Amino acid sequence: MAQTSAHPDDPHYITRSGWLRAAVLGANDGIVSVSSLIVGVAAADPAPDTVIIAGIAGLSAGAMSMAAGEYVSVSSQSDTERADIAREHAALKESPEEELVELAEIYRERGLSEETALQVARELSTHDALGAHVRDELGLSEALAANPLQAAFASGVTFSVAAAVPLLAAWFAPAGEIIPVVLVVTIAALATLGALGAKAGAAPVLRATVRVVLWGVFAMAVTAGVGWLFGVSV
Ligand SMILES: [Zn+2]
Repeated sequence: MAQTSAHPDDPHYITRSGWLRAAVLGANDGIVSVSSLIVGVAAADPAPDTVIIAGIAGLSAGAMSMAAGEYVSVSSQSDTERADIAREHAALKESPEEELVELAEIYRERGLSEETALQVARELSTHDALGAHVRDELGLSEALAANPLQAAFASGVTFSVAAAVPLLAAWFAPAGEIIPVVLVVTIAALATLGALGAKAGAAPVLRATVRVVLWGVFAMAVTAGVGWLFGVSV
């Protein structure tokens, strides 16, 4: 049932949280892991083609593992939700009176008087008892329902698109300049991602941007160090 909003021009952001989280996570992971891989391999100073091949392998492996990981974790969340709802359904069948009292208690704790809480619990239970318990006792809502395929798709696609940024930078970089070019492009991409993610979730932009960029630079520095050590010792 479509809910009317008191401020349709300024909607709530909570309904975006599921796919937004998967998308930002996927994009951030894509940029950081593939740019770090490229910088790490380039620090070992191999032929430029080797760096590109490593980047392509990193992109496809990362996208698949991101999508698979998201699918598995969101599926287990959705399994848990379904099991809770089934348990609630059984409890409503076995002991409807106790469930009614439990629901009224939830409304009383939210500030209703005992009498009003019981009245509300009664009316909502008559209308849709399971719906009322799922929403008000389990805290589950359709807007937040776990959707494994959507989450897997969102994170796999955003990982690939984001990872293509440092990969293309490496591809078009002049010979011998792969590391500085990828570094600059990656920092710019991370700053954009941080700002976009913060804007989409109505969070403070500067803090989110600095956080994403610092972690990205740190990851690249560590892998570049490892790559350099490897290059020296081989
Ligand atoms: Zn219940």
